Amino acid sequence: MSTSPEKKFGKRFGNLNSFKTSFFENNDGMLRMADGMAEILSAQPLRKTCKICGNPLSAESRPASAGRIPDETLRIKSHGLSYIRCEVCGHLNSEHEDTDDFANKVYVEDDYAKNYSEADKEQYQKRCELIYIPKAEFLRDSLNKEGISAESADILDIGAGCGYFVTAARSLGMKAEGIEVSAGEVEYGNKISGSRILTHVGLTDSIDYIRNTDKNIISAIGVLEHLTHLSENLAAIRNNDNIRYLYASVPMFSFSCAFEASHQDCYNRHMGGTHTHLFTNESIACMAESIGFEVAYEWRFGSDINDLYRFIMVELAKNDNKEFADYFAKKFTPLMDELQLVLDKSEFSSENHFILKKT
Ligand SMILES: [Zn+2]
Repeated sequence: MSTSPEKKFGKRFGNLNSFKTSFFENNDGMLRMADGMAEILSAQPLRKTCKICGNPLSAESRPASAGRIPDETLRIKSHGLSYIRCEVCGHLNSEHEDTDDFANKVYVEDDYAKNYSEADKEQYQKRCELIYIPKAEFLRDSLNKEGISAESADILDIGAGCGYFVTAARSLGMKAEGIEVSAGEVEYGNKISGSRILTHVGLTDSIDYIRNTDKNIISAIGVLEHLTHLSENLAAIRNNDNIRYLYASVPMFSFSCAFEASHQDCYNRHMGGTHTHLFTNESIACMAESIGFEVAYEWRFGSDINDLYRFIMVELAKNDNKEFADYFAKKFTPLMDELQLVLDKSEFSSENHFILKKT
C-alpha cells in the first residue's frame, strides 16, 4: 500500500538572480534562441501518446477503459507552441514530439552549457554551495529518515553536467559519481574537482550504464525532462534491483505557464526551449508506479514569482519606465520569497524535487 509523501515547501532564493542576469539583460537574444528551438520542435511529428503514461492524447483514440482526471482536456498556446494536458495523468505534453532529431539540433554543446557553466573554480564552488548543497542536504536528510547514513548512500548522477551535484553530495560524505554525454563538461568538471568524478558516456550507453550499476541511488537533477528515451531509462532503473531510490527534480505545469503565455515578448524559460513536457503531481506518481517505486519525499520550490518579476521588469524597461522599474524592484523583491512560498504550498509551482523509493 502506498503512503503519502513527506512534503517540504519553499527555499530562500537570496542572490540566485545574479546567476541568471542574462535572462533580464538579454531578453531578446534569449527569446530568439527559444523561438529557434520552437521552430525545430514544430517541424517534428505530432505526439500521439503521453510521454509519461503512454495513453493517447486525443479523445477519439483513447480506450474507454483509460482512467480520467476530473478536468477537461486543456490546450495551452504560447510562444508559437501548443501544449496538451494528458487527461489520464495530467502531464503537459508539447503537441510535437521531442525526437532524436530535435535533441540533436537543440542540445548543441556550447549553447547549452553557456548559461550554466561558470568560468572559474570560485564561481563553481559558489554555485555548488548556493544551489547544489541544499539539494544534496535534502537527499541526505531524507535518507537519514529511512535509516540510511550518508556513508551508505552510493549515488549515480545521470546527466551530471559539470558535476555540481556530485561535488555537493561528496562534500556531505555520500559516495557519488556522474555520467554525462557532453565530453566538454566531463573534462571541465573532472579538472575543477581534481579527481575523476565524471565519466563520459554516449546517449544510448547511459541506459546500459544504469541497467548495470551497483549504486543504490540514481539522481537526475533537471534531467528527466530532457531525455528523448525517458521510458527506456526508467525501464533500466526498474530492472536493476540494486537501485532503491530515484532522486530527481523536474519542471512542473505551474503558474509560470500562465505568466509566460500572457507575456509573449518575454523569454519563456519554462514552457518552451528544451522543456517539451511538464510534470504534475499525478504524472510523477504515475511514473513512480510504472517502475515499481512510490513518491516518498517532496520538496517544492518554484521560481514563478521570479519569472513574473522578470516579465514586469523587462516590459517596464521596454516602454521607457526604467526609473519606475527600479522603484518597483525595491518594493517587490523583499516580498518574493514569501509570495513564492504561497505558490509552492498550492502545489502548482514551477519546480519539484522528489525522492522515489522502491516498493
Ligand atoms: Zn499521461
